[in-house]
Amino acid sequence: MKIQDYIRDISDFPKPGILFKDITPLLGNHKAFTSCVDQLVDLSPKEVRIDKVIGIEARGFIMGILMAERLKAGFVPVRKKGKLPYDVKSKSYGLEYGEDVLEIHTDAIKAGENILIHDDVLATGGTARAVCDLVKELGGVVVQCNFIMELDFLKGREKLDVPVSALLNY
Ligand code: AMP
Repeated sequence: MKIQDYIRDISDFPKPGILFKDITPLLGNHKAFTSCVDQLVDLSPKEVRIDKVIGIEARGFIMGILMAERLKAGFVPVRKKGKLPYDVKSKSYGLEYGEDVLEIHTDAIKAGENILIHDDVLATGGTARAVCDLVKELGGVVVQCNFIMELDFLKGREKLDVPVSALLNY
């Protein structure tokens, strides 16, 4: 199953000059999204036990929770500022199109836990870098940052000092 056939390019969304990678055609096809989860799990490290998968709001929640189920790991949502109800740790970050703050519950990760971070797209790497920093500040160990797609020309990988994997490179 070629999952790239189910990714739709949208020009100038959400701002002029951005080529948005839309995963909704993938999500709308059972065989395609199941194959995507299978391939993401195949990419994940086999030599360590993954205790928790982090999904980054909002599209990272979707494959993130499916991966957590397959890997028999917990799932932790990282959300935009003001959405999580309990005590949070916050980090500001820059994106391909703007700046924002991400938050995680302070009790979401225990010291020494192995964490896989998932999002749909790696662009400039600011988002994933902020999440890596949050994990480290809570004492977790990031074993992989895992994406459906990597936009190579934005060099996001260079911001990350952990293993990075993506199913598709553009
Ligand atoms: P960045 O911090 O620049 O790596 O941006 C990553 C975040 O922004 C992810 O949560 C993506 O969902 C979203 N994103 C950035 N660029 C794109 C794009 N071209 N298409 C779809 N999502 C994107």
